[in-house]
Amino acid sequence: MASTKKAVADTAALLPVRDGEDPWTSEEVAEVRAELLDEVDRMEQTIADAEAELSGLLREGSDGAGRDPADVGSSNFERDQEMSLAHNSREMLEQVKLALALFDRGEYGYCESCGLPIGKGRLQAFPRATMCVTCKQREERR
Ligand SMILES: [Zn+2]
Repeated sequence: MASTKKAVADTAALLPVRDGEDPWTSEEVAEVRAELLDEVDRMEQTIADAEAELSGLLREGSDGAGRDPADVGSSNFERDQEMSLAHNSREMLEQVKLALALFDRGEYGYCESCGLPIGKGRLQAFPRATMCVTCKQREERR
């Protein structure tokens, strides 16, 4: 089977898998990369939308004198929602860009914490993952 493995495209051969997983095919590598590029577009769109919404809300808020306090309360709530949406999307965008940078350096697919393969299954479900499940869970518990 060694000759079959050699035939796998270079990029595919660079991506690690966990024990028991099949090696990446070049189609699978291309799909994960396309998904990352898609996510960059989606995140940038979400951020732009949230920021447009936010500046609209802020304009409304500045001439809110004499408005019903209930209205002010709900637009504050809306503003907080948009702010956290923009904030979360920006963090996700950073993560996707990091994953793409790792991809280009040929370091994609290794856990940034323990250095072991993240695993093909996890990356296919969650292409922007830069940590293995174990390290991610440990980080979330902190
Ligand atoms: Zn790890």
